[in-house]
Amino acid sequence: MIPIELDVRNLKVSFSTPQGNFSAVNGISFQLHRGETLALVGESGCGKTVSALSILQLLPKSAANNISGEIIYSGKNLLSLGAKQMRKIRGEEISMIFQDPMTSLNPVLTIGEQLIETLLQHKSLNRKEALEKSVQLLGKVELYSPEEKLKQYPHQLSGGMRQRVMIAMALACEPKILIADEPTTALDVLIQAQILDLLENLKRESSMSMLLITHDLGIVVEIAERLMVMYAGDEVETGPTKSLLKNPNHPYTKGLILSRPHLGIEGKKKQRLIEIEGSVPNPNKRPTGCSFHPRCKWVMDKCRTQKPLAKNLNPNLKYNCHLDPGTI
Ligand code: SF4
Repeated sequence: MIPIELDVRNLKVSFSTPQGNFSAVNGISFQLHRGETLALVGESGCGKTVSALSILQLLPKSAANNISGEIIYSGKNLLSLGAKQMRKIRGEEISMIFQDPMTSLNPVLTIGEQLIETLLQHKSLNRKEALEKSVQLLGKVELYSPEEKLKQYPHQLSGGMRQRVMIAMALACEPKILIADEPTTALDVLIQAQILDLLENLKRESSMSMLLITHDLGIVVEIAERLMVMYAGDEVETGPTKSLLKNPNHPYTKGLILSRPHLGIEGKKKQRLIEIEGSVPNPNKRPTGCSFHPRCKWVMDKCRTQKPLAKNLNPNLKYNCHLDPGTI
């Protein structure tokens, strides 16, 4: 049996705003196994990033007191740890890479200063050793002339190079879990493919687990073994990537599949793209019953009043919808 690295249980997050409290994540649960990639998928505003930030306690203070549930890592509930303990876990054991490296890298420090600083903070290395390790790390993420890159500032590198630097920084302390939040969204298609290949190879070499946050099912097909689809802060469907995308049971998952260009697993070359009408509801105006009901083609009366409970089709496959399996 593959060990569980991260066990998220009934995670709820709400934010206090001048307009009142609103819920961003409504009790999601998932497990991340050693060496696997699990993708959290959904449109913007579905709660994916809030869930990821909760794991590392990186949410703004307005939410810090409104989190409940458990996030079990290495026998400890991360939600109960103090700032000092979390600083040790962040970077050393669980790292995160963000969508836009330009906002994550310090523009006034060279790449070398930033990488060396990360290593000195978390590893027992002297400056010379940290410099050598930085060169190795940049080589590992396939940046040519790593010694030269260490002397450059972020603005002197392309978007793809900056994302490679961010990956090098995230991997500097050999974390057990990498959280990648839309790691390729800001990049063009060719560089996107290179970065995905790189992440996949690095993950395979180290048996690291990866939690991938994305709205792009094409990326999920490429690198995630399992996926969890989220909608309006709810978990709607979870299962192995290929079987779930081939036979979805939740109308939202089906909508995401139909609204994407050919995914390469269905054997259909020409398929009309069908958008999901409407948009994700405002967090302080969630519909009653099933949150997806105003956009759902299969909506029934009870969907408007009763929130669907999870249906477990087998230990690896579950979905939250009033429809019977195989209906859509
Ligand atoms: Fe559609 Fe009803 Fe299922 Fe919600 S519960 S996804 S509204 S069929």
